[in-house]
Amino acid sequence: MLLAHKLELYPTKKQSDYLFHCVANRRYMYNQLVEYYREHGKLTKKESVEIVKDYRNNFEWLQDVSTRVIRNTVDDIDKAIKRGWTSEAKAKRKKALACAVTAKQKARAVHYMLPSFSKRGVNDSFAIREKEKIKVSGRKFKFEKLPKELREIKMRELIRFNGTVKQVTISHRAGKWFASFLIETEDIEKQESSFESVGVDLGVKELATLSDGKIFPAHKSYSKRERKLRQLNKKLARQKKDSNGFKETKAKIQKLHYYVSESRKQALHELTSWLSKNYKRVAIEDLAPSNMVKNHKLAKSIIDAGFGMFKEQMEYKCEMYNTELVIVDRWYPSSKTCSNCGKVKKELKLNTRTYTCECGLVIDRDLNASLNINRWRPV
Ligand SMILES: [Zn+2]
Repeated sequence: MLLAHKLELYPTKKQSDYLFHCVANRRYMYNQLVEYYREHGKLTKKESVEIVKDYRNNFEWLQDVSTRVIRNTVDDIDKAIKRGWTSEAKAKRKKALACAVTAKQKARAVHYMLPSFSKRGVNDSFAIREKEKIKVSGRKFKFEKLPKELREIKMRELIRFNGTVKQVTISHRAGKWFASFLIETEDIEKQESSFESVGVDLGVKELATLSDGKIFPAHKSYSKRERKLRQLNKKLARQKKDSNGFKETKAKIQKLHYYVSESRKQALHELTSWLSKNYKRVAIEDLAPSNMVKNHKLAKSIIDAGFGMFKEQMEYKCEMYNTELVIVDRWYPSSKTCSNCGKVKKELKLNTRTYTCECGLVIDRDLNASLNINRWRPV
């Protein structure tokens, strides 16, 4: 199965310059093809291949980067042309032409939905789509033609999946470099030792409580940095717009947001990997935070915990590890039901942390819910 992992890169200044060089070469080649296409009104793949070859032979600076970097533009423009000639795109273009009044608008409408020139700073990226040309070792990687003296490029984290790297797309956004790896994973055999079944209660107090008593503590990443964020936002409001100080504060805020979302993602990956690897069957709730939570304070914690991301990760990881994933009905009262006798409470306040029942059961609220989730069966 093919899985993607996008991660941040930490290139040195020289490496970064080289990556920009790759991006610029790709953009230049792509724009030559767009120009040819506009001039001739057509461009076959075979013609593109010849054009790229010609440029590469005639311009030495295009030879500094992997052949793949500029060769990929052949496929890219071919796709863009095909996209531009679907019946839907044709209809849209016709409409755009009919609506155009000024000469400028008309000139633009002619190319609507067709390949357009790629601009500096917009979708700055290039790809290496051949596994032989990419080499990853731990948290470093290199690719064909990366000059020897530049060694390897550092990655922020290890690639999450075991398998063969099939391709990599390197992109530049908001001052940062990213690499998106496509990995062909092997089918994973379930370990003998794995536990049978588990129910998972995602919470606010804890990130997750499992029906066998394990607890994954909440990562209070947001709350911890929330005060800092509030301070910075106040500071920003006082600063003169577009002043240097303003820009500096804004950059700090963006960085903090990025950090928070990254650590949240990592905590969730830890949890979902553990669940999908160690159990044969995992039951989770189908959460709809918007209708589940009306309390404003709670809503933020739920967003903080990233429940949507949780479900998404569970879905693909369970497929990968051949684990049965059960999604419990949204309306099932997992918190209000007694896990011992089955009685359902009419009401259970959110701040009631301990569940007590007439049958004598006294149990942690989240543990009670996780036991019910594990026991649930579709009707
Ligand atoms: Zn009971």
